[in-house]
Order: sequence, then C-alpha cells, then structure tokens
Amino acid sequence: MSKKIKVTVWNEYLHELENEEIGAIYPQGIHGTIEAFLSKEGDMQVRCATLREEEHGLTQEVLDQTDVLIWWGHKAHDQVDDAVVDRVHQRVLAGMGLVVLHSGHFSKIFKKLMGTTCSLRWREAGEKERVWVVEQGHPIAQGLDHYFEVPNSEMYGERFDIPEPDTLVFISWYEGGEVFRSGCCYQRGRGKIFYFGPGHETHPIYHQKEIQLVIKNAVRWAQPTFSLAQPLSGDWVPPLEPLA
Ligand code: ZN
Repeated sequence: MSKKIKVTVWNEYLHELENEEIGAIYPQGIHGTIEAFLSKEGDMQVRCATLREEEHGLTQEVLDQTDVLIWWGHKAHDQVDDAVVDRVHQRVLAGMGLVVLHSGHFSKIFKKLMGTTCSLRWREAGEKERVWVVEQGHPIAQGLDHYFEVPNSEMYGERFDIPEPDTLVFISWYEGGEVFRSGCCYQRGRGKIFYFGPGHETHPIYHQKEIQLVIKNAVRWAQPTFSLAQPLSGDWVPPLEPLA
C-alpha cells in the first residue's frame, strides 16, 4: 500500500459559530465539510486545526506531520500569531504544499509568501460565477470540462494584487462583468502553493462536486515530491575536484 498524503485543514471557524445561517450550511464547520469529502479518498489522511486551539492547532508536531495544509480564514487574519505564521512559512519553504482558499488571499501566510498586498475588488451579491479552465492539461483541472459554474458566489475581481502566477489554471467571470484569476499556482522554495477563489461562507460552495474535485486535485498536485525531513542545504562544502 502506498503512503497516504497527510492533509491538515485549517479553518478560522468563527462565522459558522456566530451566524446561524452559515452554521446551518456547515454544521461541522467549513473544515469539517472539507475533511469529510477528502477523507473519502483512499490516498489521503486528514486532520483539522482551528484558530481558537492552542497555537491555532498548528504546533510544530502537527506541521511535521503535514504534507499539505489547506487554509480558510476571513475575519480574524490579524489574530493568527506571527510565530505560527513563521512556522508555516518555514514548512512551505521546506516542501509542504499549501492550498489557500477564498478569503485566505488576505491571510498573513499568503501575503508573506506572495510579497504583495493581495488586495482585490469584491462584491457580495450572490451572483453567478463561471470558472473557466485555461490550462486543461494541468493536474488541478483533471476531470473538469471547459468551465463550471458556481450558482451563487461572492465576486472577487481584478486587479488581484498578486505576483504573476507560475501557472494560471482558472479564470472566473461574474454576472456583474468582472473577471478574476481564481486558480493560481506558485512555488516558493520547495513548496507548491495553490490559490483557489470560490468559497464564500454564506453559500454552500464546498458542497459542490466540481469545487471538491478541484480541492482534491490540488492536494495531490501540492504534495511534496521528496522527503520533507531532508534538510535545506546551506553548508560550506569542499570542492568536488581538486582546485589548482
Ligand atoms: Zn467571502
């Protein structure tokens, strides 16, 4: 049996507890919904972590046991401890995959990895979002048609202040006329990062099969391709050949 991908789903987990309608869409929290559909995959072993836990549930021990971290946050980005952000950052550079969802665009960890403001235009009108696959051969787009639609979404529009993605997999169009780079791949150090736009908490977006497929694909794409225990090389070394 091949080794399972160790996934940690991190959620701020505040909206679901504070707002009844959101709690009804995600009775186990957004993280619980994501954990449930990922756990059905035979090649993934999934755990969750949330903001209010000690060290936000992201102790060194947990990160050492994480191949791919999924991140959903919105209203409490500033409550995430800088020491935890640094720890996650180091782990990404060492090779851990990171999948940043929706309003995670403004999280400390995403902004740190991007080095830009990551600001965007937005509108909460429950309008239709059409997600276009612009890189059909990409592993994250496997199993999708030319496009799929999210019936009710929050508009996220350009300009999205991110560095140019290494690969742009999706572009979204919204009923109100804007477009958005909604599926962006990056590499930082040894780690692979995927940003995925859809996921506003007042709509049942993480229950949609195409959205679930993208997240499953993204986890497999972002998994480390070598041992994370391998140290980053930064040592003085003798020459391989004798120097004249
Ligand atoms: Zn939102």
